[in-house]
Amino acid sequence: MQAELPNQETNVSDLLLYVNCPRKVYFINRGYELFPKMNEQRLERMILKELSLTYPEILRKCTLNADTLRKELETSLTQICTDLPLLFPRELADVTREILEEGEARARAKIPEIAANLIEALEEYGKEPMLAALTPVKIEPFLSSKKLNLKGVPSKLVCFEGAQIPSILKPGSCPEQGVWASDRIHVAALAMLLEAGSEKEVPFSFVEYVSYGLLRRVVIRSSDRREVLKISREVEKIKAGLMPERKEGKFCKECSFLEHCALDSSLMSKFF
Ligand code: SF4
Repeated sequence: MQAELPNQETNVSDLLLYVNCPRKVYFINRGYELFPKMNEQRLERMILKELSLTYPEILRKCTLNADTLRKELETSLTQICTDLPLLFPRELADVTREILEEGEARARAKIPEIAANLIEALEEYGKEPMLAALTPVKIEPFLSSKKLNLKGVPSKLVCFEGAQIPSILKPGSCPEQGVWASDRIHVAALAMLLEAGSEKEVPFSFVEYVSYGLLRRVVIRSSDRREVLKISREVEKIKAGLMPERKEGKFCKECSFLEHCALDSSLMSKFF
């Protein structure tokens, strides 16, 4: 469906789309909409994201015991599944009972691993630093910078080692070490936005892989900042009308824009 062209300020989500496929930026900014299908997997991810927001409250009242922690997470997850339709009425409007139950079962199956990883981190880093790294001082604050021509919303800001630090909740897979390249771009862009507003350096950020209960600290390097600026400029060109070349990839099969993308490419090939 085509709608009005949005304003030209770049969103951090455009940078992430670009990393996934530059052509997606083109379609989104021409008013086409992504329609991510609501299925068990997406629901599982939504539940686990919500669950991660309850970690601080749970960890505050728990002793370092895997059984207690698991039980608290189970109780919290049950409450989240009750609340979910109130939190996401539009997304869940047409979801069947089977999908709801399957999504809940899939999320519940992750609890033992989440509990084990949280306990391990508590033992390694201590309760207070963990609580500081997990506890939001703001949830989903809007950040923007005219200088960067960029805006974005981190999942939360936490207060760690005396500074406000952006943190993102990622429900997908988790690398063995560190974070995925796209997550590095994501937190670097948010750190730069936070710096633009506070004029204080943000030297690191956090990525929470919520399907595993793993928290990763990411040092923001100059190379990450350079990459953010480079991608932002490429995105600006696309928003100004440049259509990136089509690169057939593994994501094409499930892409919402496949039909338009293939059509536009075949039209272009007739002219060039
Ligand atoms: S079909 Fe492939 S190349 Fe086209 S927008 Fe989608 S992912 Fe990108």
